[in-house]
Amino acid sequence: MDYPPKTEINQATLNDDEKLNAWLRSHLATAIHSSGSAKMGPSDVREAVVDQYRRIHEMEGLWVADTSIFPMVPSRGAAATAIMVGERIAAFIKQSAKDKEEVI
Ligand SMILES: Cc1cc2nc3c(=O)[nH]c(=O)nc-3n(C[C@H](O)[C@H](O)[C@H](O)COP(=O)(O)OP(=O)(O)OC[C@H]3O[C@@H](n4cnc5c(N)ncnc54)[C@H](O)[C@@H]3O)c2cc1C
Repeated sequence: MDYPPKTEINQATLNDDEKLNAWLRSHLATAIHSSGSAKMGPSDVREAVVDQYRRIHEMEGLWVADTSIFPMVPSRGAAATAIMVGERIAAFIKQSAKDKEEVI
């Protein structure tokens, strides 16, 4: 991945919104760690997508087990955390199936 060349930002650029936007656009790069698009929270919170077990609100038997449930973008590589989240939610799904079996 080619990162844009780093150039110093001067006061004139800081004071000029257009110049600042142009400088920012030419200096920003993605760390390809997209995450945090599925907020966790109780179902009465409008933006909340999943509950504490990462089950999607108002859906039966559907979980989110990827980086979209991260509350913040990790400061380092996201892959290991994504795997850890996957493992944890697999355990929730297994437990939920077991609980259902015990009910039947
Ligand atoms: C180029 C690149 C380099 C990276 N380098 C690093 C690194 O060095 N270290 C690090 O820690 N992280 C790195 N990352 C970030 C890391 O790979 C991701 O954060 C991590 O893979 C996210 O895991 P995930 O399970 O959320 O999503 P993903 O790994 O993207 O998994 C999503 C899966 O869902 C599948 N899918 C998509 N749509 C559907 C559908 N409709 N039906 C069925 N399946 C579907 C996809 O094919 C994919 O297999 C890098 C990412 C990229 C893009």
